[in-house]
Amino acid sequence: MERDIQYLKGVGPKRARLFRTLGVNTIKDLIFYMPRELETVQDVSAMRNEVEDKAKVSLNGVIVTSPFLRKTRGNLSILSAEVAGNLGRFKLVWFNQPFLKNKIIVGKSISVKGVYNKQYRQITVNEYKFNNALVKNDTKKQTQYFRPIYPVTDGLTQSQIQQCISIAIKKYEHQLVEYLPKEIMEMFNLCEIKKCIISVHNPKSKDEWIEAKKRFIFEEILTFKSALLLGKENISRQSGIKHRLGQSLIDQFSKKLKFKLTEDQQKVITEIIADMTSLKPMNRLLQGDVGSGKTVVAAYSLFLTVCNGYQGAMMVPTEILAEQHYYNLKDFFAFFDINIELLTSSTKGKSESYKRIKNGEVDIIVGTHAILQEKVEFKKLALIVTDEQHRFGVEQRSSLRNKGEHPHVLVMSATPIPRTMSQIIYGDLDISYIKQLPKGRKPIKTYSTTPNNRNRVFDFIKKEISKGQQCYIVCPLVEESDKVSGLAVTQYYDMVKNYFDNVKVGLLHGKMNSRQKEEVMNGFKKGETSILVSTTVIEVGVDVSNANIIVIENSEKFGLSQLHQLRGRVGRGSIQSYCILVCHTNSSTAKQRMKIMTKTVDGFDISEEDLKLRGPGEFFGTRQHGIPEFKHFDMLKHQDYIQPATEAAEVILKNKETESYRLFFDKIKEFAKNYLD
Ligand code: ADP
Ligand code: MG
Repeated sequence: MERDIQYLKGVGPKRARLFRTLGVNTIKDLIFYMPRELETVQDVSAMRNEVEDKAKVSLNGVIVTSPFLRKTRGNLSILSAEVAGNLGRFKLVWFNQPFLKNKIIVGKSISVKGVYNKQYRQITVNEYKFNNALVKNDTKKQTQYFRPIYPVTDGLTQSQIQQCISIAIKKYEHQLVEYLPKEIMEMFNLCEIKKCIISVHNPKSKDEWIEAKKRFIFEEILTFKSALLLGKENISRQSGIKHRLGQSLIDQFSKKLKFKLTEDQQKVITEIIADMTSLKPMNRLLQGDVGSGKTVVAAYSLFLTVCNGYQGAMMVPTEILAEQHYYNLKDFFAFFDINIELLTSSTKGKSESYKRIKNGEVDIIVGTHAILQEKVEFKKLALIVTDEQHRFGVEQRSSLRNKGEHPHVLVMSATPIPRTMSQIIYGDLDISYIKQLPKGRKPIKTYSTTPNNRNRVFDFIKKEISKGQQCYIVCPLVEESDKVSGLAVTQYYDMVKNYFDNVKVGLLHGKMNSRQKEEVMNGFKKGETSILVSTTVIEVGVDVSNANIIVIENSEKFGLSQLHQLRGRVGRGSIQSYCILVCHTNSSTAKQRMKIMTKTVDGFDISEEDLKLRGPGEFFGTRQHGIPEFKHFDMLKHQDYIQPATEAAEVILKNKETESYRLFFDKIKEFAKNYLD
């Protein structure tokens, strides 16, 4: 069964190549190759009841008329002939297969499958086979049967795949040995593997097929969940870097803060301190909506590490964010003797920087994934913080982890993920939540409008600016393009400058070099510019609390979660903030999405809606999140599998030394090795 697919009867090297494009490399792969749906086929030759129009049908009969070939004006050829079956005569039709004409001979027996046209008692033939013997008059014959439909590829048809699978199963079914532990199968009422394989490829009823599929879905999510828990267990078995907590130091830090921590912030900081002062490495996710104040929490944990004589690293997805955090941390630590350095791909004098990191002169390094480079070696790295974690994959997390010896890890994310799903995606992490926003925040008022109203929008901006506020305007493109529609920041910038006299306007996009970006960002932060026309480079993290309006042009081009992130750039102080979505289409989906945005302020609700609208594939951008591409499990449809699978995974890890769990546990280890390392 483990042999290469080319050695299966009827396959050979040529077909094997085609099978490989479907991910089928071995005979076993083929046996586990899953149909994507089940088709019900009615046998008209034996049917007593009426067959419905457009039904999939099969028929055995004898050809009773000579074939008739005609061409349509569109140069389509239509070949037809009549057959007689048990229920009388039917007309068969083939499109564009004129060469069949010679094979259709009166008196010959034929089996066909196709689509029924009730009005003309006609079958459009998809598959056919000429038989030598005359069809028997079999009255006991089933009147309907089920046919699994597989994903195909050019050169490999549905029936070829079906045939190969059926050959493979016949020959190898005895080798299918159950690998799930018996207790688990009983506890969760799962069907045995051999039976499942047979039912999924050749079901006697739809129910049987569904039962079989259930096991595969459950098994898949169970394997994944178990691997995550195993990873978590492995980390917690390592000895971490036990920090000591000097309460007086922490108090000193708190005293220098410009605001009072919220209860949630305080609670999370306590959880983090508990982790870092324990014997195990911290492995924690901090979830908090945009603007909830995660950065200061990170600052506490970095402070604790540095006070214990170790180094900390903070990794973020964009240069702009890295710079902002760099200055924020400098601010937080202004009264302490702490060396902070910035490291991004455009940092000058990197080799000097590497030296200082290696010899321990640098206490905290803030940067983009430039930190991941091999050349970056730490003297004694004890804490890793990643901000906006949804932009990093599992691999990046673990390669950063390898730069220290079992360092503490804190990942922060503002992408609110429906709770059931964070159990999967972040199943290897402990989770803390910040649910409340800092005191005095007013909910952002969100409006949706059309480009026709732009002048009114601009006048509104004018009014707010005259009161001393600032404004972001976001466009999807850097420059105008023939290929993609949408407004470009460069043109828009000129237009805004023209419209607003005596107002300083900044321009920001990803094609500018980092010095230019820094200058523009600083100008805006200091309030020297009042309007910032920008692409989505400001999407994550950017924090200028005096800005109270964000206008998003071509808002129809952004996903809901992205709009929510962008909106989160305002509403960061105590003044009333506004988000204005300028929607350039009339389509009903766009309208629906704008409506959700204007009605919903909560990030969790938005992400749930977003997931429903876009589906998990697009929502998660799978690879980014480090979620594997599931074959059976569907994040949306199969949420109710998660809880039982989590329970089962816990049972499995508890019993992993037991003999009856060995086969499956080996599979889990294998999966974890391939996927999680
Ligand atoms: P996010 O969770 O989106 O990263 P930030 O950490 O950027 O949020 O915080 C948003 C803003 O709120 C910042 O300007 C920060 O200084 C401010 N802030 C954070 N915590 C508090 C608090 N407890 N009280 C008042 N303002 C706060
Ligand atoms: Mg942030």
